[in-house]
Amino acid sequence: RAKLGGRNQHVVYESIWDEAGSPHLRTESLLQEALRKDQFALYLQPLFRLDDMALVGAEVLLRLRISDGIPLPPSSFIPVAESTGQIVEIGEWVLRRACHQIRDWNLRGFPPIALSINVSAIELSRTDLSTRIRHIAEQEGVPPERLHIEITETAIARNEEQALINLEALRAAGFEIWIDDFGTGYSSLKSIKHFPISGLKLDREFVHDLAQNPATQVIASSILSMARNLGYPVVAEGIENADQFEFLRQQGCDRGQGFHLGRPVCIQVFENRFFPARPQDEGSEN
Ligand code: C2E
Ligand code: MG
Ligand code: MG
Ligand code: MG
Repeated sequence: RAKLGGRNQHVVYESIWDEAGSPHLRTESLLQEALRKDQFALYLQPLFRLDDMALVGAEVLLRLRISDGIPLPPSSFIPVAESTGQIVEIGEWVLRRACHQIRDWNLRGFPPIALSINVSAIELSRTDLSTRIRHIAEQEGVPPERLHIEITETAIARNEEQALINLEALRAAGFEIWIDDFGTGYSSLKSIKHFPISGLKLDREFVHDLAQNPATQVIASSILSMARNLGYPVVAEGIENADQFEFLRQQGCDRGQGFHLGRPVCIQVFENRFFPARPQDEGSEN
């Protein structure tokens, strides 16, 4: 999330650039260079159906590799990219890469799971967002139902009118719209009443202390029951242990994601884990 001018950004600059000078400009050029040198990478975190643990999709999480070693997480560069506007170009890069991945899996005969993309407030308030997404998916030959768009309530609140126009056009074109970090943003309940959404992602705020905190249990079950009554499926985020998993499953939560089920990994590792035998190598035709 963009905490523009907030504490986060300060931390970002300091963590990437210790030295004095003009850290903002440096980070801006660093991101430009990252695009040019292809230093961004998509990581994928699996999403499962909780009742039978079937893989139903994956969330696309961006990483930045400016040196060897552990890639930088989005918190260290997305806020900067939002403040400079570079998030638009980066977002398009992510979308195009995700589309390539879907098409590649199709060609190789892998199961048709959906990929979920995070779209930021800046992107959502642009007048051309829905046309661009539709255009890129079409260009890459990706059917819209294979792409899910994640947006936060706070991103919607930035420009509700434009968000509504974009989301209605995307929904009409067949893309699924999911409310990310549900329950933590601005105007939580309004977003599900007025916006054309497909489902909710229950923020890990309502998952992490489920076992110890009775209030969290009440809030989580209430959100799940409200979602069920409205006909919205729910993905629980941040499932880190078996107790959380069991509680959510028993409360009728449809899907889940979290370190207990699968960490975000690079594409190669994801394929090795979930698509181990290449279908065309199995020799059913010869
Ligand atoms: P998010 O969309 O809520 O993504 C889920 C975050 O929770 C990811 O962090 C993921 O690694 C983390 N997570 C997953 N399971 C667990 C768990 O069991 N425990 C804990 N503690 N954390 C878990 P990540 O990859 O650092 O991403 C952070 C945020 O950055 C994302 O939050 C999303 O808002 C943003 N982001 C990531 N990729 C993109 C992108 O391509 N574009 C935009 N605009 N934002 C992105
Ligand atoms: Mg997300
Ligand atoms: Mg989330
Ligand atoms: Mg989150």
